[in-house]
Amino acid sequence: MDFKDQVCLITGASRGIGAAAAVYMAGKGATVIVNYAGSQEKAEAVVSQITEAGGRAKAVRCDVSDLESCKAMIDDIVKEFGRIDILVNNAGITKDQLILKMSEADFDAVIATNLKGVFNTVSSVSKQMLRQKYGRIVNLSSVSGVYGNPGQANYAASKAGVIGLTKSVAKELASRNITCNAIAPGYIETDMTRAMTDAAKEAVLSNVPMKRAGKPEEVAAAIAFLASAEASYITGQVVEVSGGF
Ligand code: NAP
Repeated sequence: MDFKDQVCLITGASRGIGAAAAVYMAGKGATVIVNYAGSQEKAEAVVSQITEAGGRAKAVRCDVSDLESCKAMIDDIVKEFGRIDILVNNAGITKDQLILKMSEADFDAVIATNLKGVFNTVSSVSKQMLRQKYGRIVNLSSVSGVYGNPGQANYAASKAGVIGLTKSVAKELASRNITCNAIAPGYIETDMTRAMTDAAKEAVLSNVPMKRAGKPEEVAAAIAFLASAEASYITGQVVEVSGGF
């Protein structure tokens, strides 16, 4: 895998899986735009880690739930770097609650970031990728979106929606050499899962044949493969990175 001369936008790259993907892909030559919502210092630290290792990266603040901000971010990237080869939609949030107690606000917030955020960036980037006749889009779904998960009706709905969006966009853009795939991680050690109770962690792990949590780097490697030129005949797929969940 070689991303030399390629420009890659990763949403939610200040922490966790997005940060690991940024470091991994920059290490293979990509110029990486490290998007974040609030964690400026963490995003700048990811950029420093990349540039100190000889790579190219830039931190950009943008709330992916806002369409106009996404359009502006992508326009600015194209103006500054001339192209955008790879879009990784990784930004995501959870607001877990049983359906009986789930508030409308918590349902809407999760859909706005996790699902509408993907619409916002994909719709904004597709014109440029069509012009280039090249593009790789990788969307972060979840095993919750494939199998469902108690307490995550909002999150699972958003991640199932990401799968439907991915498969449809794949069919729309395939003839122009643009692929669109999803990754469905299982239980990965990040801030998102650190918030889980020990009992919840044990319950999840009991369903993982590998009997351990995954590492952000293990998801990053799968993202990078689907984002690479080598994955040229794979589109509309959902790759589970879940230790066999
Ligand atoms: P994380 O550690 O909680 O990091 C979330 C990232 O998303 C942060 O960089 C955060 O930016 C960014 N973000 C949140 N809302 C945003 C918004 N509105 N606009 C732009 N950026 C925003 O999460 P993670 O565990 O690495 O998860 C990454 C992705 O994988 C998510 O889509 C998640 O649903 C999915 N996933 C994770 C797991 C897991 O076990 N961890 C499993 C399945 C799927 P700030 O730092 O600025 O807040």
